Amino acid sequence: MAAIKDHAIVLRHLDYSETSQVLAVLTRDHGQQRLIGKGIKRSTRTRVSVGIDLLEQGEVVFLPSSRGEARLGTLAEWHQTQPFLGIRATLPRWYAGQYAAEITAAMTEEADPHPQLYEALERLLTRLCAAGEVAEPLVEYQRAVLEQAGLWPDLTRCVVCDRPAPQGRAAYYSAQQGGLICRVCQPKAHESRKIGADVLTALREERYSPQTTRSILDVLDYTLAHVMGRQTSLRTSPLMT
Ligand SMILES: [Zn+2]
Repeated sequence: MAAIKDHAIVLRHLDYSETSQVLAVLTRDHGQQRLIGKGIKRSTRTRVSVGIDLLEQGEVVFLPSSRGEARLGTLAEWHQTQPFLGIRATLPRWYAGQYAAEITAAMTEEADPHPQLYEALERLLTRLCAAGEVAEPLVEYQRAVLEQAGLWPDLTRCVVCDRPAPQGRAAYYSAQQGGLICRVCQPKAHESRKIGADVLTALREERYSPQTTRSILDVLDYTLAHVMGRQTSLRTSPLMT
């Protein structure tokens, strides 16, 4: 199979041996790829190699995994183009970056291209490098992940009985049902939580404020965790305290 050249951001990395690494990367045009980089950490007399880091961006050349073989593709070349070092400057930025990597890895399929999501991740990492407040850029990225997965919730009506949801009021929301549920349908739902009127309006209009951003981060994480089938690191991260 021919080698593929693309742009990529590292979502996971694992030391495989003294000299090798296994990586999960989001490529711009070839979706998520899981690659083994053999000898990538091997230093030479003139060059010290420390391997490839989480959330760095680069130009990648790889041989995709083929059916029947081990599911890892082979990393042939990596040229770092942007280390996003600013993300490591404060703990909130670093937690936010790790959370973005975590939900991206869980919510994208191998070899399923989402160039818009790649660009959203690049934008998030660029913003985090300079961000004082990380919650708003992170909310926008959660939204991009859910939209690209086709799982953005319906916030206009009860998704069970179709009754329109009134504007400017609090409502029940169900991650499992994928949207709002009215007071009549709510007792029959397996899970639901109440969303305040101000938070719901901000979500609908994409107008975030310091007063609503934390609650929105929480609601969207609840949705993502439901799809992923497990809690995310955001639950226990200082970003939520
Ligand atoms: Zn209903």
